[in-house]
Amino acid sequence: MNSSISLKPSRIPLQEVYMRLSEELSRRSTCRRRNVGAVITSADLTQVLGVGYNGGAKGMDNTCLIPGEPGDPCLTCIHAETNAIAKAGSAEFDKWAFVTCSPCILCATLLINSNVAHVYYREVYRDLAGVELLQRAGLEVLEYKEFENEFRDPINLASKAIPMFRMEVGEEAK
Ligand SMILES: [Zn+2]
Ligand SMILES: [Zn+2]
Repeated sequence: MNSSISLKPSRIPLQEVYMRLSEELSRRSTCRRRNVGAVITSADLTQVLGVGYNGGAKGMDNTCLIPGEPGDPCLTCIHAETNAIAKAGSAEFDKWAFVTCSPCILCATLLINSNVAHVYYREVYRDLAGVELLQRAGLEVLEYKEFENEFRDPINLASKAIPMFRMEVGEEAK
C-alpha cells in the first residue's frame, strides 16, 4: 500500500479542531496588516493552555498603536503566538501550537524556548525564516491543510439529544 495515501479518519482529528479554533480567534484581531490566531495545547491534546490573536495591550484601545494605512506594516501589535504563549507558559513540555499563518522568526524562537514540540500552520508566511528555525531546532513543523475541507457537514445536535425527562411531583428518584 502506498504510504503517501492517507485515509480520511472517521472523526475530525483534534489537530483540525484546534486549527479551526485558531481560525475563529483570528477573526477577533483588528490589526490592519494581518489577522492571525493561535492555540497552544498540552502534549496529549486534551487541554488548551493558551489562545491568542495579534493585537495590542489588554484594556487599551483595540487598534494598532501607531496609525497607518491599511496594509502598512504594524510593529506595535504583538503576534498571536506570543499572546498564546503569554498564557500557556513554558512549564509544560512537548506542547502543540496551531497557528493560522506560519510563525515569524521571533515567534519561532519563543515557541522553541517555551517548550513547544509541534507547530501546525494553515497558510505559509512569505518569509520562511521562522519555519526554518523551527525545523533546525528539531520541532515538528507542518503546513496542515489535509482536512481543511472535510468534516464541514452540519453538526448533528438535535437527533442525538436525550429527550427531556420530567419527574412527576412526589415521585422518588430511582
Ligand atoms: Zn497592528
Ligand atoms: Zn511572530
